[in-house]
Amino acid sequence: MDPNDKRSPDVIALFDVDGTLTAPRLTATEEMIDFLAELRKKVIIGMVGGSDLRKQKEQLGENVLDMFDYTFSENGLVAYRGKELLAEASITAHLGEKRLQKLINYCLRYISALNIPIKRGTFIEFRKGMLNVSPIGRNCSQKERCEFEEYDEKENIREHFVIALKETFWDYGLTFSIGGQISFDVFPNGWDKTYALQFVDHIKEIHFFGDKTYDGGNDYEIYESPRTVGHSVKNPEETMQICRDLFLS
Ligand SMILES: [Mg+2]
Repeated sequence: MDPNDKRSPDVIALFDVDGTLTAPRLTATEEMIDFLAELRKKVIIGMVGGSDLRKQKEQLGENVLDMFDYTFSENGLVAYRGKELLAEASITAHLGEKRLQKLINYCLRYISALNIPIKRGTFIEFRKGMLNVSPIGRNCSQKERCEFEEYDEKENIREHFVIALKETFWDYGLTFSIGGQISFDVFPNGWDKTYALQFVDHIKEIHFFGDKTYDGGNDYEIYESPRTVGHSVKNPEETMQICRDLFLS
């Protein structure tokens, strides 16, 4: 740490991005950018989001690595301290090509045997830390998306798919998470936002701020973690308010 840094090394404020620092999928306001700079004079700050760094730059600014002491993209699979890349992980390296391909082949076979009202394309999207699997295919239209969601509510296509995967790949150490309208995510156990905590474990007091802190939300695990003091917020305004009360007053 910079010897001129007069801040306490014992406290970090760690923020979710969407709904916490910015309105969902939108960019941060100027007020928020100024606020973070102000807050950073008092405590160490970091952000942990599910998106990749490119998307986070779109939302928070090209210089995002200069704005935070810690930047965690993809739940911390890509971890930076300042501009220094600390670590990078991927589902490919974690599972190995052989197991990964078994899993992908199984999904494609399962989908090929499904009879549902419509199918489109991009049934598996490969991301750094997860597979996103969609029985209808991700490049369906918005209308088709809504129709599938309705159909799935009655027929439980995704639920049955996940049960089959859990049975078949019980020994792979995977989490299956049904979210959104048309797909579910497959990722290694523990690769939620708590993954990022290993990089700030030396800091005594970790305050986490997030908007989806309920069971099933993407902030739930880190919010509930015994390592963090969790703060549930409804919007960026509330994030600023709570921080002002805690750190700036
Ligand atoms: Mg959020």
